[in-house]
Amino acid sequence: MTATALSDYVPDRSLGAKIRRRLTRWQTAKPLSVAPRETYICFTFDDFPKSAAETGAEILDEVDAKGCYYACTGMAGTNGTMGKLFDERDLTALTGAGHEIAAHTQSHLDCARASTEDVLADIEANLARLKEMGHTAPVTQFAWPYGETRAALKPALIDRFAAVRGILPGTNGKGADLMQLSAYELDQTEASVERAAAAIQAAALNPTWLFVFTHDVSEIPSPWGTTPAHLRRLVRLARDTGAKLVTPSQAVQAIYTKDEA
Ligand SMILES: [Zn+2]
Repeated sequence: MTATALSDYVPDRSLGAKIRRRLTRWQTAKPLSVAPRETYICFTFDDFPKSAAETGAEILDEVDAKGCYYACTGMAGTNGTMGKLFDERDLTALTGAGHEIAAHTQSHLDCARASTEDVLADIEANLARLKEMGHTAPVTQFAWPYGETRAALKPALIDRFAAVRGILPGTNGKGADLMQLSAYELDQTEASVERAAAAIQAAALNPTWLFVFTHDVSEIPSPWGTTPAHLRRLVRLARDTGAKLVTPSQAVQAIYTKDEA
């Protein structure tokens, strides 16, 4: 399956699916048991395009922020709507610079429509392929492709990942579901930039854990990507608020450590 075919897939948009998504979100599989004492912001990239590894990481590095890349290994080395996708060299370069590599399935399957067995097998294939590609560091983070999941499936990842990100907007305070964390989408629209900027500003007044996610970072982005200027604006805004710009693993560790201190 090519990257173009993967990104052309559209999850179920029926009313039944919308109701199911709402119910799924409220069925917490693993609550965040402590309240963040400081604000942690994670800039994240899904699938992930080479431009996210290059231009995206450059923008993060300008302010010494660390980001996270959710790698769909079936898309590696392909070329699609989002431009060129990542390869082995990107994994090494990102890890070397302190960014995090995370899981995102091998085939970018819709986990709401697949059996638990198939989802777990696809994740195992994803992790095995990352190892084959030379990524030997532990992979403790995951993002649901298309943000799609099921209430019965979420608990199956508790033993596999420290935290799992979704795509529904919101911040993550005490009680947030570690198996479906909320995240602000940054796409090619002005509205998505404004919404994420407002959330980052609000988070400065109320300690929380906030995710921003996008795909390619390019002057002419795909519908799912953003421009360097928009990403830079959000990264600098986040830095200026005094938030900690860390990887999801670092956020989990800091939130739980601060609680014990
Ligand atoms: Zn994806």
